[in-house]
Amino acid sequence: MKTDFLVIGSGIAGLSFALKVASLGKVVVVTKKKKVDTATNLAQGGIAAVLAGDDSFEKHVADTLEAGAGLCDEEIVRFVVTNGPERVAELIALGVNFVKEKDGHLSLAKEGGHSMRRIAHAYDLTGKEIERALVASVTQNDNITLLENHMAVDLITSGVGEARRCVGAYVLDDQGDVSIYRSKTTTLCTGGAGKVYLYSSNPDIATGDGVALAHRIGAETSGMEFVQFHPTCLYHHQAKNFLISEAVRGEGALLFDGEGRRFLEDYEPEKMELATRDKVARAIDSEMKKTGADCVYLDIRHKGREFLEKRFPTIFGKCLSLGIDISKEPIPVVPAAHYLCGGVKTDIHGRTTIEGLFCLGESACTGLHGGNRLASNSLLEAVVFAHSAYEYCKENRADFSEKSEDSIVEYHGVNNQYIDEEILINHNWDIIRRIMWNYVGIVRNQSRLALAKQRIIEIKDEVESMVADYKISPNMLELRNILDVALLVIEASQKRKKSQGLHFILDD
Ligand SMILES: Cc1cc2nc3c(=O)[nH]c(=O)nc-3n(C[C@H](O)[C@H](O)[C@H](O)COP(=O)(O)OP(=O)(O)OC[C@H]3O[C@@H](n4cnc5c(N)ncnc54)[C@H](O)[C@@H]3O)c2cc1C
Repeated sequence: MKTDFLVIGSGIAGLSFALKVASLGKVVVVTKKKKVDTATNLAQGGIAAVLAGDDSFEKHVADTLEAGAGLCDEEIVRFVVTNGPERVAELIALGVNFVKEKDGHLSLAKEGGHSMRRIAHAYDLTGKEIERALVASVTQNDNITLLENHMAVDLITSGVGEARRCVGAYVLDDQGDVSIYRSKTTTLCTGGAGKVYLYSSNPDIATGDGVALAHRIGAETSGMEFVQFHPTCLYHHQAKNFLISEAVRGEGALLFDGEGRRFLEDYEPEKMELATRDKVARAIDSEMKKTGADCVYLDIRHKGREFLEKRFPTIFGKCLSLGIDISKEPIPVVPAAHYLCGGVKTDIHGRTTIEGLFCLGESACTGLHGGNRLASNSLLEAVVFAHSAYEYCKENRADFSEKSEDSIVEYHGVNNQYIDEEILINHNWDIIRRIMWNYVGIVRNQSRLALAKQRIIEIKDEVESMVADYKISPNMLELRNILDVALLVIEASQKRKKSQGLHFILDD
């Protein structure tokens, strides 16, 4: 397969970029499951941008910088914030139906860490609505081929030294065969890595593949120690990864312990429920560890059924289906790994440190989030950088031509035999995710980090042999990727000796 633009991933980053560069050439989007199996599709709260008269770029910049704990790249923050309104307008033009007030203005929500109402939303189905509109446009575009159940295995480079560049990827198709996808540019849009942790709000695809693939060809990563834990995931034995959006606290929900006490008074007496999510998550984690409780409770009963059903249809419906009427009882919640602030290091055009390789969306580390992401800035980041990467490709089209003609070796995997005991893979999945949760979680210390590293390296050796000795499968490849990402998180955490942003270390 040969194309101008190879895009890996079909979330907001991949599809937005694909739609734009389709005006410059042929685009192939590969996505490892169904096209809507993305974190984008699950996003509830919305997309942040300066959209109201009483808001300002300065306020949005200040809120982002404050959340980022002094580690944001201010130039990038200004770039993203000032481009926000135009990119949101583009989504609307594409057919995204954000909720409007009676007067026709967008209905804007407020979330933790934001000083103003600036979140455009489609109730609590914002991501689904965005994904729907993007998929509809992509499907109608003759220059884009979207291949489901096609998983990028590894990136391909050619040349050495200054001439080294990414020229495509090896892709595992739905028949179990690996082919070379040669391209003039390759763009990783593979989303986050929540599945590295035992508890996560992320969909199953979130195994950090883009970060692992880029790392394996020597691309720089950054900020990997900054894993955001969402404070409020539904705690219920039948609910896998169901998030109770930040917007619920934004609308006035209160947090209580099992005794009915607002324990945040001990941790965040000023901002209470509207403190940034890392602070709320840490307070919950600490309270649960102190009391031995399995969960805490989020109470929004005072808003009444009519409001809750309309404002939070998904949350209301999901909880009700599990026997929890949120207009009558508080919601049991726990924290869970939610967002990877770090990732593949990119510049203002989404370019990585490897020529020909771009990275957009959650798998990238642009400098916007610094030590902690402000709620609803991630969908914004994805569309802003999809646009700036497109602008770069448009300006530099001549540079991309005919550079991918060097010869490429076939994928080295030779064995035709699938592993006969899947338990060997699944057992390792479980161990890695538990190690990360227990040793590299919300609160860390150096000795646990060292132990985690030792264990992860042992498993990594075993899994590398598996990949070399057996026919590869998506499950095995994801296992290899979560190992690479786990190690990057551990090593970055070990290097940051002080607590900063999301990285909280006891022996600093
Ligand atoms: C429950 C939840 C709620 C959220 N709410 C909000 C919110 O309200 N506002 C906000 O701004 N952010 C929110 N976020 C974060 C936001 O949704 C994500 O950061 C964003 O959608 C990421 O978009 P993306 O395009 O980078 O990745 P994704 O949307 O996750 O897409 C990744 C794509 O890459 C594909 N892929 C991965 N690996 C491979 C591979 N090896 N080969 C081929 N394809 C691959 C996947 O199959 C998928 O198609 C939320 C996240 C979650 C989980």
